[in-house]
Order: sequence, then structure tokens, then C-alpha cells
Amino acid sequence: MIVRRSRAELETMREAGRVTARALRSVGDAVAPGVTTAELDEVAVAVIEAAGGKAAFLGYHGFPATICASRNQQVVHGIPGRTRLAEGDVISIDVGAIVDGYVGDSARTFRVGTVSDEARRLLDATEKSLFAGIDRCRPGSRLQDIGAAVQSVAEGAGFSIVREYVGHGIGRNMHEDPQVPNYGIAGKGPTLLSGMVLAIEPMVNAGGAAVRQLGDGWTVVTADGTLSAHFEHTVAITDDGPWILTEE
Ligand code: MG
Ligand code: MG
Repeated sequence: MIVRRSRAELETMREAGRVTARALRSVGDAVAPGVTTAELDEVAVAVIEAAGGKAAFLGYHGFPATICASRNQQVVHGIPGRTRLAEGDVISIDVGAIVDGYVGDSARTFRVGTVSDEARRLLDATEKSLFAGIDRCRPGSRLQDIGAAVQSVAEGAGFSIVREYVGHGIGRNMHEDPQVPNYGIAGKGPTLLSGMVLAIEPMVNAGGAAVRQLGDGWTVVTADGTLSAHFEHTVAITDDGPWILTEE
């Protein structure tokens, strides 16, 4: 069942989204060569605490940190630590905040200094694919319209969609029904209605689509070692069109 949220609930989710967006932007501002991913985690902790929120990821199925920090060939769920960013890296940051019992969830891949042309194209295409998906978040759309739009942009740019990890409904819990794959057939799936809230989050690889999990039980990497990018927003479906909740 896909929950429909009242206007009042959406306003609260907007606050959670705003805090999430502020944390993500602040982490992005701190991204630079020589900075460790543990230091980036501390930035997010400070922003969420100052806003009176709670970190959504910390302790989630045992995850040990406030952000996921996934560098270069890492796709998602990287654990912050002593790894130092280097010029030319890309670093995907995923963060979630809980405010008044509602969750915001957002991710972005940042450039560390000057990156390769391929990296720039990958990041641009992944972000574009996210916004193509968001544009389908309207009453009367079908769920797979979102994935079809994401897939068309990402694959159209010559990249591959990760299939093992998907977007999701979100509200009082970070992961609610439905799953939102980043691929699909337009016109298929449940009809979207106003008040539904979805986290749209394409994960796109420069090379093949295959991924594997590292021995830490969390970090997901591309099987072929190529770069990966991840962009995510929490989006409410409203009669006025898509409402991106995870913007400042
Ligand atoms: Mg996320
Ligand atoms: Mg998510």
C-alpha cells in the first residue's frame, strides 16, 4: 500500500527535507582534496543536531554513521572513515534527517577539484536522469513512468543503471512502499496520486551495470571498477506537480 500524506504531514516532511538539504550542501561545501570522509560525517552531524533533527541512517540496520560516503567506483553505502579525498575523485554523499518523526533522504555526487571529462559527463547525466524522473511525479502518472524516464536519460548518455538498489516510498520510515526502480516501462505500475512521497535516486555506472558488496557488509562497488554516481531527492506528488522536499 502506498500511503498518501496530508498537507500538514507534507509540511513537516518539508522541514525534514530542508534539514537534509542543508546537511548535504554543508558536506558538499567541505569536500576538498585531503579531507577525510569521517570529517565530512562530522559536518552532517553538526548540521542535523543544530536543527534539532535526528540522523536517519545512524544505527539503521546497524549502519555506523550519519552519511554514506562512496568514492569513485563505490556506488552506495560507503562507510565514512580515514579515507582522504584526492584531486580528481568523485564522492557520493547520501544523508537522511528525521524531524518531528518524518524522514528526508537526499544524495549527490560531488567533484573533488577538477575531474575527468568522463566523470563530469557521468555526474551531469545522472543528475539529469533524476530530474527526468522527478518530472513524472504527478497525479495520474504510473510508477514505472519514473524509471523509464530515468533509464532513457542515463542509458541515452551511454551509461548503465544499477538494478539491485532502487528508490522508495518515504514518510515516517525511510523505506516504505513502493520500490521505485530506475528502469521500467512507461504506462506500467500503480497510478500515482497526490500526497504520495517518493525518494527518487538513480545510481548510474560509467561502465557495466553489475555491482558487488565488499566484505564490510555495506559498501557497494561497480563490478568492473568504473566510476559510479548517485543523485537523490525526496519528492511529494501534488496537484500542483512535483514538490521537491529536499531543497533548501
Ligand atoms: Mg539516500
Ligand atoms: Mg533513499
